[in-house]
Amino acid sequence: MNKILGYIIVCIGFFSNFIEAQNISFEDYNPTSTLVVPGKKIIQAKFPFIDIHGHQYRMANQDLTPVIEAMDTLNMRIMVNLSGRSGDNLIKSVQNIKDHYPNRFVVFANINFDGVGKENWTKNSVQQLKEDINNGARGLKIYKSLGLRNKDITGNRIQIDDPRLDPIWNLCGEMGVPVLIHTADPKLFWDDFNGDNERWLELKTHPRRKRNADNPVPWQQLIDEQHNMFKKHPNTTFINAHMGWYANDLKKLGALLDEMPNMNVEIGAIIAELGRQPRFSKAFFIKYQDRILFGKDSWKPKEFPTYFRVLESDDEYFPYHKKYHAFWAMYGLDLPDVVLKKVYYKNALRLVPGLDKSLFPN
Ligand SMILES: [Zn+2]
Repeated sequence: MNKILGYIIVCIGFFSNFIEAQNISFEDYNPTSTLVVPGKKIIQAKFPFIDIHGHQYRMANQDLTPVIEAMDTLNMRIMVNLSGRSGDNLIKSVQNIKDHYPNRFVVFANINFDGVGKENWTKNSVQQLKEDINNGARGLKIYKSLGLRNKDITGNRIQIDDPRLDPIWNLCGEMGVPVLIHTADPKLFWDDFNGDNERWLELKTHPRRKRNADNPVPWQQLIDEQHNMFKKHPNTTFINAHMGWYANDLKKLGALLDEMPNMNVEIGAIIAELGRQPRFSKAFFIKYQDRILFGKDSWKPKEFPTYFRVLESDDEYFPYHKKYHAFWAMYGLDLPDVVLKKVYYKNALRLVPGLDKSLFPN
């Protein structure tokens, strides 16, 4: 009798495991790859590099030593902190850098778009930015709130190509500092939320990222406004963050780079797009080697090795660190050293004034 009971319990156990396995969700299905191929993690970049898209939000008072320690582990020689703000805060950040690590950080200034439409808003903002640059800002960073959220005093959305902002872009051109601009979000956030949407998992886990097709305007309109603004200011250098959300269509991005010689791109948060098309990406990087900069965006030192491995190695089918960006595996681009050096530091040294070139090899 006990034998039969034992058998029944084993059977129940087996079936409940089986039923549990049958009900695993897409989020939980993360099988260990059985593929055995050469290759390994790359903890440190092959060449010293500049992160053109960094964020340190408290640089005015923060102890920079832990950041430097992590940067050294990665071989990051200079971090461009895009969150430099303006006025006093910017002065204090520049001072903190000067006092502790004078050649390892630079800051970009930011613009406060509150009050667009007020008399003298443009004049005052240009004046403030000029002061910020004279106080040590090496560029201007524009957040995606321009185009998505910022409104003028009458409550209308401020278009990215709004003529009231023209003097700001002109000033950057005149003073020889680049504008790094992040516009919109991946187009899929505007698209239907269903099983066809490649960002389904991201929209499921981050539902606030989902937008209606025309909220606040269609995706394409934001992108067109940005490009129109670039074209209106041919003497200003722009760095389009996140490859302008065209990393999944490099042919189109190439055409845009051909059309707008003052536009450059950085690769923050879109490395998973590049790592799924290694041959096409490699050809793109070789063709546009003078226009692409290394950027990461969020400061998570553990995520950098994926970038190094995609750019440097010829490894096959290795994991990416965020399933909601990529449920696919990565392949290395195996970029030649001359291209790697440009992406890692030479292009940034050319576009951002006053960086310490002696920190980098020829
Ligand atoms: Zn950013």
